[in-house]
Amino acid sequence: MAKKQFKTESKRILDLMINSIYTHPEIFLREIISNASDAIDKLCYLSLTDDKVGMQRSDFKIKLGVSEEDRIISVSDNGIGMTKEELENNLGVIAKSGSLKFKNEMEKSGEASDLDIIGQFGVGFYSAFMVADRVTVITKAYGSDTAYKWESEGVDGYTIEEWHRDGVGTDVIMHIKQDVEDSEYTRFLNEMSIGQLVKKYSDFIRWPIVFEETIMEEVETGALDEQGNPIKKQVPKVVEEVINSMVPIWQRSKDEVSKEESDEFYQNIYYDYEPPVSTIRISAEGQVSYKAMLFIPGRAPANFFSDLFEPGLQLYCNGVMIMERCKDVIPDCFRFVRGVVDSPDFPLNISRETLQSGRQLKIIQNNIEKKVKNELRRMMDEEPETYEKFYNAFGVQLKYSVCANYGEKKDLLSDLLIFYSNKEKKLIPLRAYKEKMPEEQKFIYYVCTDSIAHAESLPQAEQIRDKGYEILYMTDDVDEFVIRRLENYEGVKFCNITNDDLGLETDEEKSAAEKKQEENKELLDFVKETLGESVVDVRISRKLKSHPVYLTSDGDVSIEMEKYFMVMKNNEMAKTIKAQRVLELNSEHHAFKALQEAFASDKEKATKLSKILLAQAVLIAGLPLENAAEYSELVCELF
Ligand code: ADP
Repeated sequence: MAKKQFKTESKRILDLMINSIYTHPEIFLREIISNASDAIDKLCYLSLTDDKVGMQRSDFKIKLGVSEEDRIISVSDNGIGMTKEELENNLGVIAKSGSLKFKNEMEKSGEASDLDIIGQFGVGFYSAFMVADRVTVITKAYGSDTAYKWESEGVDGYTIEEWHRDGVGTDVIMHIKQDVEDSEYTRFLNEMSIGQLVKKYSDFIRWPIVFEETIMEEVETGALDEQGNPIKKQVPKVVEEVINSMVPIWQRSKDEVSKEESDEFYQNIYYDYEPPVSTIRISAEGQVSYKAMLFIPGRAPANFFSDLFEPGLQLYCNGVMIMERCKDVIPDCFRFVRGVVDSPDFPLNISRETLQSGRQLKIIQNNIEKKVKNELRRMMDEEPETYEKFYNAFGVQLKYSVCANYGEKKDLLSDLLIFYSNKEKKLIPLRAYKEKMPEEQKFIYYVCTDSIAHAESLPQAEQIRDKGYEILYMTDDVDEFVIRRLENYEGVKFCNITNDDLGLETDEEKSAAEKKQEENKELLDFVKETLGESVVDVRISRKLKSHPVYLTSDGDVSIEMEKYFMVMKNNEMAKTIKAQRVLELNSEHHAFKALQEAFASDKEKATKLSKILLAQAVLIAGLPLENAAEYSELVCELF
């Protein structure tokens, strides 16, 4: 029999398919099953208006067969089937619907790689050639008496001949390739793998997808034995095992789905041993119609903070999964959200594998962003404990997102941040802080340290605590960057309690402090000279009360940032970033008085005291002491 040739452009795609540079060969089954489902849709639709079809809705199904021995996987449907002409037209030209676009696109961008093309326009039926070296299609169209067999081994072309088939419908029989070095096809050749692929990609196809199994059944023959008991015999019986669950959970109304069911769905799909802390349902009509079921997990997956984590939601088009992780429908700041978006508007035919990011996706993303934020806000207000659980897992992610892209999302996210309050002894939202501020308070006071206990012991906190103002203790590495990015919360500026000016002094107090600085100029210069490069300045403190010293900084890099950079692994550059240290002395403290006296009468002692005071400041700031032995010796001398 003469072989017919594929159209040129088809040949080219087929060639790519067969020499499988394509990354997901497993999608072949989804493609073939989707075609079967479409064919059933068509005949079922006809049956509604045409009695001659003679089929009930419950008669329709897709049967799967797999034989490891014969290396065959088959997909059979009792759908509309194909006439000889349809076989020619549909299977003789690859991705009929996509091919025109394909051509246009190729002309537009001269350099589009072949791989992209395949990605952009799913190639449906032809994906079978990724796993099969021969594909046989036996089909009988509705209304036709003749069945046909189409067969192809790939680029060489195909044959069509008359064949026989009992009923209307189509069998696609794939002769699976032998394994080669880096491609293992035998793994598809068992019911379990096929069942898993159905669950993964085609679970929500509207028609039952079944395996047939023959079992032996005991039936009565109608005759009786000598005792008068009925005689039985074993007869073979074909039973069907339905593999897919058919109705997607997100297509069912909210009231119909119990919390247990939805939790179970989440836990099965996303391998979480805990239920999500919240589930969001969206049913949108308008510019884009879609349904979404989103989950906010209560714990971060082990790889969440590594490059291995793949964010994104699953995209479905009418129950067929078209993409496993689509990043374009969820903003990166909410990358922890899991779930499904299903829209009949997604172009199933042309791009099952990589949906081009278009306007639709942007609209969905904006909408989902709002819904997730609202849900988190609701949780924060109504279920603070649950929110804290969520925050323990993903708070850092929110903080990184405040800083990302020049603070693009900071307004969206600032409402979702919570920090430890020294007054309430728990995490509180910035909003709550602001609401409680006394009228005369100018700033939101905070401090970044490595622990709550350390923050409690900070000398600078005294003055603010005495005023009765609340302080936020921030203990995540990223906090300092977050606050710099935010600058203010709803118009109220942040003020680090280690800052020089805490906005607490009256004008008289300010000029008194300046006077004091002037009076002690000689001593301060002496201390600065003694300490050399360790500090850029030595000042009289305006805020120390009972403590003698403190270390603060000038310029953009704070002491906390220096600590953060110091521990950065594999980054020698970062380790060289240092704060410009400033030593602050409490002029009311007896240690300062002692320093003054020594400066007047015993310069050697004044030198030693200066060194001790700096070392103490370094320790209080939580920094490593460069010369601990010297410090210890100096202190011991005082005994
Ligand atoms: P697409 O489904 O994206 O249009 P395919 O290459 O998968 O592209 O299939 C091409 C055409 O072949 C389909 O549009 C359909 O008309 C026909 N076809 C494929 N499989 C079947 C089937 N099982 N039953 C009837 N027609 C089919």
